[in-house]
Amino acid sequence: SMTLFWFRRDLRLHDNAGLFYALKENENVLPVFVFDSDILSKLDDEADARVTFIHETVTDLKQSLQKKGSDLVVRHGKPLEIFKELHGKLKFSAIYTNHDYEPYARQRDDQVLAWAKKQGIEFKTFKDQTLFEKDEILTEARKPYTVYTPYKRKVLANLDSFYLKSYPVETYESSFAKKPNPEKIISLKELGFTKSNLQFPSSEVPIKVIKNYAETRNFPALENGTTHLGVHLRFGTVSVRDLARTGKKYSETWLSELIWRDFFMQILWHFPEVETRSFRPEYDKIQWRNSKTDFNRWCEGMTGYPLVDAGMRELNATGTMHNRVRMVTASFLTKHLLIHWHSGERYFAKKLLDFDLAANNGNWQWAAGSGCDAAPYFRIFNPETQAEKFDPENEYIKKWIPELDTNKYPSPIIDHAEARGRCLQAFTKALKK
Ligand code: FAD
Repeated sequence: SMTLFWFRRDLRLHDNAGLFYALKENENVLPVFVFDSDILSKLDDEADARVTFIHETVTDLKQSLQKKGSDLVVRHGKPLEIFKELHGKLKFSAIYTNHDYEPYARQRDDQVLAWAKKQGIEFKTFKDQTLFEKDEILTEARKPYTVYTPYKRKVLANLDSFYLKSYPVETYESSFAKKPNPEKIISLKELGFTKSNLQFPSSEVPIKVIKNYAETRNFPALENGTTHLGVHLRFGTVSVRDLARTGKKYSETWLSELIWRDFFMQILWHFPEVETRSFRPEYDKIQWRNSKTDFNRWCEGMTGYPLVDAGMRELNATGTMHNRVRMVTASFLTKHLLIHWHSGERYFAKKLLDFDLAANNGNWQWAAGSGCDAAPYFRIFNPETQAEKFDPENEYIKKWIPELDTNKYPSPIIDHAEARGRCLQAFTKALKK
């Protein structure tokens, strides 16, 4: 009989937990990837770079599998319908896959599971994209952590070789199904997309970037101040276990970032309602201004605050933005402009190559003050002070705002002190009952 391995956010053959178990426990394992029409139909840019990235990666995977005498079956549609159709032809007896913690994915997987059960098909799932998941790291009272520092402490105390070991897929390679007549891959065009011309960062990072991370990570002008691995972690073209081993060896500061990633994934798992609501419900009582004009100026990088504008222009042009600047732009939108965090979060979701619901939502709510473990609301970033500290030579700013010293560059959309007062008033009103 046949087993399917369903690739999702784990687009690699190396150190892949679910794939490892599929091959170890079965013979005749056929890998499958579904371009999920429920997800693709929600994207409004036909040159969406994430689709190009996935398409290129899936093409590579397919070629690698063909070299091994097997193939990757690639389909476009609703996963459940695709499985029904494939079952009609292949009569497989099991589906193996890796966990995904987003609300939509959980619902999709529940549907596939319910159908599989009725057919007598096994549906087996594994932890792969995180170091720890779900209930693995809980407080003494067996509750999920909602504060990062004690969560991190517990992770570090538990992160031993058991959790860091690789799953050597190579060992059981002979279990891949033999496919002498491989199929042609569906094209981007057939999916309704065009090729993006954005650059994707490399998945290979020189060790020295990680070694120097604690000193370099806050300066957006430095090209290699951070690893740019976000998009690879998002789609699983790298293994988080490999990275965590490197982090453990060379930089606890960098390892801590991977732990932030896990932290927000377990928050989204335990509190899926944060997708649409504030983690602290009182924040949904704030009277946001939600000015459309202000929002557009923020999106375009025309607020007259250079660090904010440089960040937004970087995002629009490249699909990425430095973390320090993400914090400043998010704080500016929510606090200076009093626009609901959800609008900014959705804008980032459209643009970021490394967009990840758990990390994006968690960090936006952190910046707005509405999230778990967020800074107190009265701490309002001053974008000018932030620029002086983290871009002292205006290097990053000048790169994105060549017209900075001319009269083409707008004056500030609002005075900082005025915005600060307005924010404190609106937040205090909602938060002090
Ligand atoms: P590095 O700085 O080298 O860090 C390594 C990896 O650790 C990252 O690739 C990422 O996977 C993880 N990581 C680092 N910082 C965080 C963090 N604060 N929270 C969660 N994981 C982290 N990160 C995303 O991966 N996707 C998002 O959609 C996202 N949206 C954000 C929105 C806002 C408003 C803010 C303030 C931050 C957001 N981040 C997001 C977190 C962070 O900015 C990016 O992970 C980081 O800038 C990516 O750069 P890098 O790949 O060079 O990672």
